[in-house]
Amino acid sequence: MPIKDEFVPAARFLKNFEGKILLASHENPDGDTVGSALALYLALKKLGKSVKVGCRDPVPYFLQFLPASREFLKLPVEEEFDLCVVVDASSHKRLGVPVRAKSFMRIDHHKGGDFYREEDLVDAFAPATAAVVYYLIKNIDEDLIDREVATCLYTGLATDTGFFTNSNTDAEALKLAHLLVERYGVDPHEVAVNVKERNPLRRFKLLSRALDTLELHLGGKVSSMFVLKEWLDELGASYEDTEGFVNYARSLDGVEVAVFITERPEEGVWKVSLRSKGKADVSVVCERFGGGGHKYAAGCKIPLNLSLKEVKEKLLEEIRKVV
Ligand code: 5GP
Ligand code: MN
Repeated sequence: MPIKDEFVPAARFLKNFEGKILLASHENPDGDTVGSALALYLALKKLGKSVKVGCRDPVPYFLQFLPASREFLKLPVEEEFDLCVVVDASSHKRLGVPVRAKSFMRIDHHKGGDFYREEDLVDAFAPATAAVVYYLIKNIDEDLIDREVATCLYTGLATDTGFFTNSNTDAEALKLAHLLVERYGVDPHEVAVNVKERNPLRRFKLLSRALDTLELHLGGKVSSMFVLKEWLDELGASYEDTEGFVNYARSLDGVEVAVFITERPEEGVWKVSLRSKGKADVSVVCERFGGGGHKYAAGCKIPLNLSLKEVKEKLLEEIRKVV
């Protein structure tokens, strides 16, 4: 694959950076933010950089097989960094906590958002942030990529593309997956088993309750599902156990847009996840509520002082305009 010119300034900047670096993953971390941050962390450590990796929330159980996943710091921390690299998020606000840093940099694949410096790497056409990080590391020094780094990158790419089935699965994604497997020895089966087949029983008990809430709206073009905090408490489950629930709602025949709502009293919000089968742009809907994301997957938060019924009504009012 070619050396891409746009990666040169960022690669040079990180290669020459002398201060303390924090690589920060977004709140409610997914495979792409964790995989991308860990790949860059391992690479920069090999280069001898002073680098740490952190997130507000713990690494979800299905990503704990990744090398160095135990080295994630729980944010916030007292320490002040010279540079905070925001990984897979449109803004430092998506970290969900304040970070003390002299400067910021963004490595991401979301459109719009905040820009911090000339060397920011934001490619809204990349299938995953992991693809952006791959080119970045390649431009720093290709020899930094080993099987561990490649496994982190592959995990980011695989999870964000729904294991190469979502609408962001393009030739670029498959080519990169092929390269990571062929050249660096990534084992796709090992990644899939770790990510998808280590579910705790509580997750299915919770899924069963969530599926009971499944409803159709707007003549069957929209589906919705929700999870209440008290169910999590009763089952000893946490938010990470709801990962992917929205895909069940999306998979219904005739559904164009799926809505998944989780009650989060500690943040005072309803956390909303929207998914589109491809035609409707759900990022537009989430932007109306101060969130964002991609055409096919987006999220936002709505204050808890609205009832669940009101939240659904407000969302449907906006979704109606895009389906
Ligand atoms: P999820 O529904 O899995 O939380 O997120 C789906 C997509 O939307 C991800 O790309 C995520 O980064 C983005 N997203 C989710 N919640 C928010 C939010 O509150 N603000 C913004 N800007 N993006 C979000
Ligand atoms: Mn992400």
